[in-house]
Amino acid sequence: MSFESLIFSKAVWIFFAFIALFGAERAFPMVALRGGLQRVAKNLSLAAVNAILSPLIVIPITAFAAAHALHWRPEGWDGIGPMLVDLLLLDCWIYFWHRINHVVPVLWRFHEIHHLDETLDTSSGLRFHFGEVFLSSIVRAIVIFLLGVPLATVVVFEVAVSLMALFQHSNVKLPRWLEQQLSKIIVTPSIHWVHHHALRRDTDSNYSNFFSIWDHVFGTASTTQRSAEMPIGVEGAKDKTLTRLVMRPFRVTNR
Ligand SMILES: [Zn+2]
Repeated sequence: MSFESLIFSKAVWIFFAFIALFGAERAFPMVALRGGLQRVAKNLSLAAVNAILSPLIVIPITAFAAAHALHWRPEGWDGIGPMLVDLLLLDCWIYFWHRINHVVPVLWRFHEIHHLDETLDTSSGLRFHFGEVFLSSIVRAIVIFLLGVPLATVVVFEVAVSLMALFQHSNVKLPRWLEQQLSKIIVTPSIHWVHHHALRRDTDSNYSNFFSIWDHVFGTASTTQRSAEMPIGVEGAKDKTLTRLVMRPFRVTNR
Protein backbone atom coordinates (compact mmCIF):
# COMPACT_ATOMS: atom_id res chain seq x y z
CA MET A 1 0.00 0.00 0.00
CA SER A 2 1.36 3.41 -0.94
CA PHE A 3 2.08 6.23 1.43
CA GLU A 4 -0.80 8.33 0.06
CA SER A 5 -3.38 5.53 0.38
CA LEU A 6 -2.24 4.98 3.98
CA ILE A 7 -3.15 8.57 4.81
CA PHE A 8 -6.36 8.46 2.82
CA SER A 9 -7.76 5.14 4.10
CA LYS A 10 -7.21 6.03 7.76
CA ALA A 11 -8.83 9.47 7.34
CA VAL A 12 -11.87 8.08 5.47
CA TRP A 13 -12.50 5.34 8.06
CA ILE A 14 -12.20 7.77 10.97
CA PHE A 15 -14.43 10.37 9.31
CA PHE A 16 -17.33 8.00 8.60
CA ALA A 17 -17.06 6.18 11.94
CA PHE A 18 -17.06 9.52 13.75
CA ILE A 19 -20.21 10.71 11.93
CA ALA A 20 -22.02 7.39 12.57
CA LEU A 21 -21.12 7.14 16.28
CA PHE A 22 -21.64 10.88 16.94
CA GLY A 23 -25.19 10.51 15.58
CA ALA A 24 -25.88 7.20 17.33
CA GLU A 25 -24.81 8.43 20.78
CA ARG A 26 -27.15 11.42 20.46
CA ALA A 27 -30.06 9.26 19.29
CA PHE A 28 -29.41 6.53 21.91
CA PRO A 29 -27.37 8.07 24.77
CA MET A 30 -26.07 6.01 27.70
CA VAL A 31 -25.88 9.05 30.02
CA ALA A 32 -27.00 12.68 29.64
CA LEU A 33 -24.22 14.61 27.89
CA ARG A 34 -22.72 17.65 29.59
CA GLY A 35 -20.52 20.41 28.22
CA GLY A 36 -22.46 21.07 25.02
CA LEU A 37 -21.03 21.96 21.66
CA GLN A 38 -18.30 24.11 23.19
CA ARG A 39 -16.70 20.99 24.67
CA VAL A 40 -17.00 19.08 21.38
CA ALA A 41 -15.41 22.03 19.56
CA LYS A 42 -12.51 21.98 22.04
CA ASN A 43 -11.93 18.26 21.51
CA LEU A 44 -12.16 18.62 17.73
CA SER A 45 -9.70 21.54 17.82
CA LEU A 46 -7.13 19.27 19.51
CA ALA A 47 -7.98 16.60 16.90
CA ALA A 48 -7.51 19.10 14.06
CA VAL A 49 -3.94 19.83 15.18
CA ASN A 50 -3.26 16.08 15.12
CA ALA A 51 -4.91 15.73 11.70
CA ILE A 52 -2.42 18.30 10.37
CA LEU A 53 0.49 16.77 12.25
CA SER A 54 -0.33 13.23 11.14
CA PRO A 55 0.54 13.40 7.39
CA LEU A 56 3.46 15.75 8.08
CA ILE A 57 5.20 13.88 10.91
CA VAL A 58 3.41 10.82 12.34
CA ILE A 59 2.72 8.87 9.12
CA PRO A 60 6.19 9.54 7.60
CA ILE A 61 7.83 8.26 10.84
CA THR A 62 5.60 5.15 10.81
CA ALA A 63 6.07 4.48 7.09
CA PHE A 64 9.86 4.96 7.39
CA ALA A 65 10.04 2.48 10.26
CA ALA A 66 7.99 -0.11 8.34
CA ALA A 67 10.02 0.39 5.13
CA HIS A 68 13.38 0.05 6.94
CA ALA A 69 12.33 -2.59 9.47
CA LEU A 70 14.74 -5.35 10.42
CA HIS A 71 14.48 -8.41 8.16
CA TRP A 72 14.85 -11.29 10.59
CA ARG A 73 11.60 -13.10 9.79
CA PRO A 74 11.68 -16.53 8.14
CA GLU A 75 10.89 -16.77 4.41
CA GLY A 76 7.17 -17.29 3.74
CA TRP A 77 6.11 -15.86 7.09
CA ASP A 78 3.19 -13.84 5.71
CA GLY A 79 -0.57 -14.01 5.28
CA ILE A 80 -3.47 -13.73 7.72
CA GLY A 81 -1.98 -15.83 10.56
CA PRO A 82 1.27 -13.87 10.94
CA MET A 83 -0.69 -10.63 10.53
CA LEU A 84 -2.91 -11.57 13.49
CA VAL A 85 0.19 -12.38 15.55
CA ASP A 86 1.62 -8.94 14.68
CA LEU A 87 -1.68 -7.24 15.57
CA LEU A 88 -1.69 -8.99 18.94
CA LEU A 89 1.93 -8.00 19.60
CA LEU A 90 1.27 -4.37 18.66
CA ASP A 91 -1.87 -4.31 20.81
CA CYS A 92 0.07 -5.77 23.75
CA TRP A 93 2.76 -3.15 23.19
CA ILE A 94 0.30 -0.22 23.28
CA TYR A 95 -1.24 -1.67 26.45
CA PHE A 96 2.18 -1.18 28.11
CA TRP A 97 2.74 2.17 26.42
CA HIS A 98 -0.62 3.39 27.78
CA ARG A 99 0.31 2.07 31.24
CA ILE A 100 3.71 3.80 31.10
CA ASN A 101 1.90 7.04 30.20
CA HIS A 102 0.12 6.87 33.55
CA VAL A 103 3.30 6.20 35.54
CA VAL A 104 6.04 8.40 34.07
CA PRO A 105 5.32 12.03 35.12
CA VAL A 106 6.52 13.69 31.90
CA LEU A 107 4.32 11.36 29.80
CA TRP A 108 1.32 11.83 32.11
CA ARG A 109 1.60 15.60 31.57
CA PHE A 110 0.63 15.00 27.93
CA HIS A 111 -1.77 12.07 28.45
CA GLU A 112 -3.61 13.97 31.21
CA ILE A 113 -5.02 16.33 28.54
CA HIS A 114 -7.03 13.37 27.21
CA HIS A 115 -8.23 12.45 30.72
CA LEU A 116 -9.27 15.98 31.74
CA ASP A 117 -12.43 15.66 29.63
CA GLU A 118 -15.30 15.68 32.15
CA THR A 119 -17.78 13.70 30.09
CA LEU A 120 -17.20 11.23 27.29
CA ASP A 121 -18.44 10.95 23.74
CA THR A 122 -16.97 10.09 20.36
CA SER A 123 -15.04 13.38 20.27
CA SER A 124 -13.09 12.26 23.39
CA GLY A 125 -11.58 9.50 21.24
CA LEU A 126 -9.89 12.19 19.15
CA ARG A 127 -8.87 14.42 22.07
CA PHE A 128 -5.12 13.96 22.44
CA HIS A 129 -2.35 16.50 22.95
CA PHE A 130 -0.09 16.65 19.89
CA GLY A 131 2.87 15.96 22.17
CA GLU A 132 1.42 12.59 23.13
CA VAL A 133 0.69 11.74 19.49
CA PHE A 134 4.26 12.66 18.52
CA LEU A 135 5.91 10.71 21.37
CA SER A 136 3.68 7.68 20.69
CA SER A 137 4.61 7.65 17.01
CA ILE A 138 8.36 7.69 17.82
CA VAL A 139 8.11 4.81 20.29
CA ARG A 140 5.76 2.82 18.03
CA ALA A 141 8.17 3.29 15.11
CA ILE A 142 10.95 1.70 17.18
CA VAL A 143 8.72 -1.33 17.89
CA ILE A 144 7.72 -1.63 14.20
CA PHE A 145 11.40 -1.39 13.21
CA LEU A 146 12.53 -4.06 15.68
CA LEU A 147 9.65 -6.47 15.01
CA GLY A 148 9.86 -5.97 11.23
CA VAL A 149 6.12 -5.34 10.95
CA PRO A 150 4.96 -4.96 7.29
CA LEU A 151 3.38 -1.64 6.28
CA ALA A 152 0.02 -3.32 5.44
CA THR A 153 -0.21 -4.66 9.01
CA VAL A 154 0.67 -1.25 10.42
CA VAL A 155 -2.16 0.29 8.37
CA VAL A 156 -4.69 -2.31 9.58
CA PHE A 157 -3.54 -1.76 13.17
CA GLU A 158 -3.70 2.05 12.92
CA VAL A 159 -7.21 1.99 11.46
CA ALA A 160 -8.45 -0.64 13.96
CA VAL A 161 -7.07 1.18 17.01
CA SER A 162 -8.41 4.56 15.82
CA LEU A 163 -11.90 3.15 15.23
CA MET A 164 -11.77 1.39 18.59
CA ALA A 165 -10.84 4.67 20.31
CA LEU A 166 -13.97 6.31 18.85
CA PHE A 167 -16.17 3.37 19.89
CA GLN A 168 -14.90 2.91 23.47
CA HIS A 169 -15.25 6.62 24.35
CA SER A 170 -18.71 6.87 22.76
CA ASN A 171 -21.84 7.45 24.80
CA VAL A 172 -23.96 5.10 22.71
CA LYS A 173 -26.26 2.84 24.71
CA LEU A 174 -25.75 -0.77 23.65
CA PRO A 175 -27.98 -3.67 24.71
CA ARG A 176 -26.50 -5.03 27.97
CA TRP A 177 -26.16 -8.57 26.59
CA LEU A 178 -24.32 -7.33 23.50
CA GLU A 179 -21.89 -5.21 25.50
CA GLN A 180 -21.25 -8.09 27.92
CA GLN A 181 -20.42 -10.47 25.06
CA LEU A 182 -18.28 -7.93 23.19
CA SER A 183 -16.34 -6.96 26.34
CA LYS A 184 -15.05 -10.53 26.62
CA ILE A 185 -13.05 -9.90 23.45
CA ILE A 186 -12.71 -6.16 22.83
CA VAL A 187 -12.64 -2.98 24.92
CA THR A 188 -16.21 -1.64 25.04
CA PRO A 189 -17.40 1.70 26.48
CA SER A 190 -18.37 -0.04 29.75
CA ILE A 191 -14.71 -1.03 30.25
CA HIS A 192 -13.06 2.14 29.01
CA TRP A 193 -15.36 4.59 30.82
CA VAL A 194 -14.08 3.14 34.10
CA HIS A 195 -10.56 4.11 32.95
CA HIS A 196 -11.93 7.69 32.79
CA HIS A 197 -13.54 7.50 36.26
CA ALA A 198 -12.35 10.54 38.26
CA LEU A 199 -10.96 8.23 40.93
CA ARG A 200 -7.24 7.67 40.59
CA ARG A 201 -7.46 3.97 41.43
CA ASP A 202 -9.75 3.41 38.43
CA THR A 203 -7.88 5.86 36.16
CA ASP A 204 -4.84 3.65 36.72
CA SER A 205 -6.65 0.51 35.52
CA ASN A 206 -8.29 -0.85 32.33
CA TYR A 207 -5.41 0.17 30.06
CA SER A 208 -6.25 -2.20 27.17
CA ASN A 209 -6.83 -0.55 23.79
CA PHE A 210 -8.28 -3.12 21.38
CA PHE A 211 -8.40 -6.61 22.92
CA SER A 212 -9.65 -6.59 26.52
CA ILE A 213 -7.47 -9.54 27.55
CA TRP A 214 -4.34 -7.60 28.54
CA ASP A 215 -5.76 -6.07 31.75
CA HIS A 216 -6.72 -9.57 32.90
CA VAL A 217 -3.35 -11.06 31.93
CA PHE A 218 -1.33 -8.32 33.65
CA GLY A 219 -3.65 -7.73 36.63
CA THR A 220 -4.88 -4.20 35.90
CA ALA A 221 -8.60 -4.88 35.31
CA SER A 222 -10.89 -2.78 37.55
CA THR A 223 -13.86 -4.37 39.29
CA THR A 224 -15.80 -1.08 39.15
CA GLN A 225 -18.96 -1.19 37.06
CA ARG A 226 -19.78 1.83 34.91
CA SER A 227 -22.71 3.86 36.21
CA ALA A 228 -24.50 6.98 34.97
CA GLU A 229 -23.50 8.88 38.15
CA MET A 230 -19.80 8.04 37.85
CA PRO A 231 -17.80 11.32 37.68
CA ILE A 232 -15.49 11.45 34.65
CA GLY A 233 -12.12 13.22 34.54
CA VAL A 234 -8.99 13.44 36.67
CA GLU A 235 -9.36 13.22 40.45
CA GLY A 236 -8.69 16.64 42.00
CA ALA A 237 -8.39 18.49 38.66
CA LYS A 238 -10.78 20.42 36.41
CA ASP A 239 -10.96 20.62 32.63
CA LYS A 240 -9.27 23.69 31.14
CA THR A 241 -9.70 26.06 28.21
CA LEU A 242 -8.22 24.99 24.87
CA THR A 243 -5.20 27.28 25.24
CA ARG A 244 -4.46 26.08 28.77
CA LEU A 245 -4.79 22.44 27.66
CA VAL A 246 -2.27 22.98 24.87
CA MET A 247 0.17 24.75 27.22
CA ARG A 248 -0.42 22.59 30.33
CA PRO A 249 2.24 19.89 29.65
CA PHE A 250 4.90 22.59 29.33
CA ARG A 251 4.05 24.43 32.56
CA VAL A 252 6.75 24.69 35.21
CA THR A 253 4.54 24.48 38.30
CA ASN A 254 1.70 22.07 39.04
CA ARG A 255 -0.90 24.82 39.29
ZN1 LIG B 1 -5.24 6.70 30.03
